[in-house]
Amino acid sequence: MKMYKDMNHEELVSLHDDLCKQYEQVKAKGLKLNMARGKPDVNQLLLSTDILDVINSHYDFGSQYEYCNYGILDGIDEAKEFFAKMLNTSSQNVIVYGNSSLTIMFDQISRGYTHGYLGEKPWCQLDKVKFLCPVPGYDRHFAITEHFGIEMINIPMNENGPDMDLIEKYVETDESIKGIWCVPQYSNPTGITYSDEVVERFAHLNPAAKDFRIFWDNAYLVHHLYNDKQEHVKNLIKACQEAGQPNLVFEFCSTSKVTLPGSGVAALATSLENKEDILKHMSIQCIGYDKLNQLRHVEYFNKIESIDTHMQKQASLLKPKFEAVLNIFERELEPLGIAEWTKPLGGYFISFMAMENCAKAIVQKCKEAGTLLTTAGATYPYGQDPHDANIRIAPSFPKLEELKQATELFVLCVKLISVEKLLEKA
Ligand code: PMP
Repeated sequence: MKMYKDMNHEELVSLHDDLCKQYEQVKAKGLKLNMARGKPDVNQLLLSTDILDVINSHYDFGSQYEYCNYGILDGIDEAKEFFAKMLNTSSQNVIVYGNSSLTIMFDQISRGYTHGYLGEKPWCQLDKVKFLCPVPGYDRHFAITEHFGIEMINIPMNENGPDMDLIEKYVETDESIKGIWCVPQYSNPTGITYSDEVVERFAHLNPAAKDFRIFWDNAYLVHHLYNDKQEHVKNLIKACQEAGQPNLVFEFCSTSKVTLPGSGVAALATSLENKEDILKHMSIQCIGYDKLNQLRHVEYFNKIESIDTHMQKQASLLKPKFEAVLNIFERELEPLGIAEWTKPLGGYFISFMAMENCAKAIVQKCKEAGTLLTTAGATYPYGQDPHDANIRIAPSFPKLEELKQATELFVLCVKLISVEKLLEKA
């Protein structure tokens, strides 16, 4: 197979005709496929439905009847210990909430905006508030900061994490920069895990703003695809404590993609001072979260199945899907020199880089033939990818056979749009 860039005009025109024919044939099949969002499939959900039997009307609450009542705002002790172990921190530093870590993140931004952190001026009283956004990143993070009118600044990612030189420059010189979004392990969508050096540099930041915070969304901390090739991001809470700035970080996680996304448990870990500040606000907002679901999770993972065993079962369902997509990319695209993609060892996504100015057209072409992908640009603040090149591939939800069909269509559209771009340039 010849690299597209080495083809002459005639070869490109004939290839284009051929690809158009193939595309029309696939389109005629009337596919209805969806690779847009990183949702677990039904078999993954079924791995966790036993959890619903753990706390039922026969459960012996003993001295734990208070768990059925109002109160215990920061979560039951067992759940704080469960998350402390998962996050490798102390249970004193943990607050356990309801089912969504994204809600906690929203609340934290909202508190910064309306009331400020630890006595600092609320952001709503400032002329400008800015956030750093490693890109490509998670669209729902960017949606929260956009919702509050916070200006977002792109920070490029490399294979070790975000560009720390740039982050240091911004954070240490600009007081209006109040935070940064990070998914430090098996990042959404690149699958990258931040290196130890990157974590240390985060812990040693010297921010111009006293209320600058690192929003450390450790959503994929136990989501390894390969038992023998696991990545573990260095502990930022500990590194910040050791660097003498424990207040610098809010760490978030949840069991959404461990058990049931709509019915998991979410947690935040931070310094004792931050925790006290947060609880002051929370006490106005809520009397206590769903402690029975907290207990359900703890009982399940302490008595029925370990997190490790459970996540290995999840991986055994996800791995064939990741590998199916990667094999098709490798077979169909590797020799052509028209795209690059990540090969993650965990998490939920593959990050695909097409040729410049091709991503939107590829996503549209797939849609016209019945396959939905994550909107091009979604992985950048304001939905604007400056190169129009990145596409987030989410292999988890479709059935394996459907996923293969969708990926075959995707690579066909990548080829077709790339040839069209090359012909435009010629
Ligand atoms: N953070 C990241 C990086 C995610 O990818 C997701 C889910 N796609 C979430 C948070 C959502 O977490 P939760 O269900 O706990 O709100």
